[in-house]
Amino acid sequence: MYSIISNNQANTLPNLFGAQSNARKVLRKSFIDQHTISGPIVFHGVGVHSGKAVCMIVHPAPVDHGIIFERTDIEDQPNRIKASWQMVTDTNMCTTISNSSGISVATVEHILAALYGTGVTNVLITIDGPEVPIMDGCSKAFCEGLQETSLIKQPKNRHQLKIQSTVRVENENGWAQLSPHDGNLFSVQFTPTDRYEGLTGEQHVQFSIEDDFHSIISSARTFGFYEDAQKLWAAGLAKGASLDNTVVIHKGAVMNEGGLRYSDELVRHKLLDAIGDMALAEYVLIGHYEACNPGHTLNYQLLKKYFETITLS
Ligand SMILES: [Zn+2]
Repeated sequence: MYSIISNNQANTLPNLFGAQSNARKVLRKSFIDQHTISGPIVFHGVGVHSGKAVCMIVHPAPVDHGIIFERTDIEDQPNRIKASWQMVTDTNMCTTISNSSGISVATVEHILAALYGTGVTNVLITIDGPEVPIMDGCSKAFCEGLQETSLIKQPKNRHQLKIQSTVRVENENGWAQLSPHDGNLFSVQFTPTDRYEGLTGEQHVQFSIEDDFHSIISSARTFGFYEDAQKLWAAGLAKGASLDNTVVIHKGAVMNEGGLRYSDELVRHKLLDAIGDMALAEYVLIGHYEACNPGHTLNYQLLKKYFETITLS
């Protein structure tokens, strides 16, 4: 569900961006330098909340641009929204960011995880609706699209922040913290409640940013309960949710044909979401993200608390 726009941009980009090499091997690694992509990538899908078709195009962008969304269906108001924790306006069920005019984009976490996991720092993402397409409920399609293009190394280092002391947030479901560590490490624990009826025991996953995001994490889908989906549909919500983009659990069993993609797919998706949400820091955080049963709200609260404790130079 993605396509590469073939044009002459790939030939002109090295001059535009001062790029040096577009070797594909830098796709997963090299978190030292800033990177963009060699040409636009188009994704077609539906919004999980609206159920409406949406077209999203990821475009190359210059050094220090960061990740910015642009709502092309909005023409009479400022339509750009920076992918930053400071723009987060809703964390219920997904992460939504909004600009000062109230123009928003929802469900940004899976494309942000794909970009972070593949080392892409600078892109403009145009989108003709209020939601990033859900694709198959994870970052797989986005990573595949990114792998079909080339990364362009840009002549400036990524911005990094070293975690100096532990910052922790908690809620009734779990906790999340950032602590000092010599690297960029994520550790997530998932503790199923009684609602899972023995589907799984406790799950743990650990991921270093030097690991292969595409093969280890990107295919882990979002998940939920059949009964909750029925209530959401009755309320006119989650219109785009289906077995094609959600692992649906009913009476302790997975309803999807083919079952789970990984035996620990649930905790891997929690980690995928955490990477996407932490990308909203706009920095590579040199430290250890650890969490038990995290969600978008905890992740946002963690970033907010962290940035409140430091002084940026
Ligand atoms: Zn998710």
